[in-house]
Amino acid sequence: MDEKTLAKEVYERLSKIYKNPKIDLEFDNPFELLIETVLAAQERDEKVNSIRKSFFSRFKDSKALKEAPLEDIKEEIKSISFYNKKAQAIKDIATILTDKFGGKVPDTEEELTSLPGVGKKTANMVIANAFNKPAIAVDRHVHRIVQRLGLDDNKDPDKTTEHLKSLMDEKHWTKFYLLLLRHAKEVCTAKNPKCHECVLSDICKSFGNVK
Ligand code: SF4
Repeated sequence: MDEKTLAKEVYERLSKIYKNPKIDLEFDNPFELLIETVLAAQERDEKVNSIRKSFFSRFKDSKALKEAPLEDIKEEIKSISFYNKKAQAIKDIATILTDKFGGKVPDTEEELTSLPGVGKKTANMVIANAFNKPAIAVDRHVHRIVQRLGLDDNKDPDKTTEHLKSLMDEKHWTKFYLLLLRHAKEVCTAKNPKCHECVLSDICKSFGNVK
């Protein structure tokens, strides 16, 4: 089976299981999702969700976050891993958003990746989920499952993003990535993937061979 046919088959099978695939981070607007995505690096989404109400009631927008003392930001996120570095990172992002983008989160990969510490994955995560525009965000879960399936063999997730985009019509990008993400989190887990329950087992090149 060639890669495009495999991608289509994966899409169709997973669509039947995950009717409305979504990310686990909860958010009310692009600013919240952008900040949360930075906080979620090497941290569980549930942990970020647990502090979001308190955090965003204190720092409602980029201006409030820009002007807040660093110590106040740290205090709000101290349960999150690497909170010292992340506090500085989100303050830096808020500063550029306020000064250069009029407080509005931009909706293009080029503009988003011009923000300090914002890479292709974070940019596409925001574009796909907060702006509902076609995008593919390759995080460690998506990267893992596409390698196991044999849809991609790039070590660099940014190259994987471009490769996955070439396999699917643009209008399907966001749903394709969200389906892969859900299946990677729920079945094709990093440790002990549930290969014997997996609907992709007969078309997966790693079936019975995951270390
Ligand atoms: S068969 Fe196993 S390795 Fe392949 S996609 Fe399913 S869970 Fe992942």
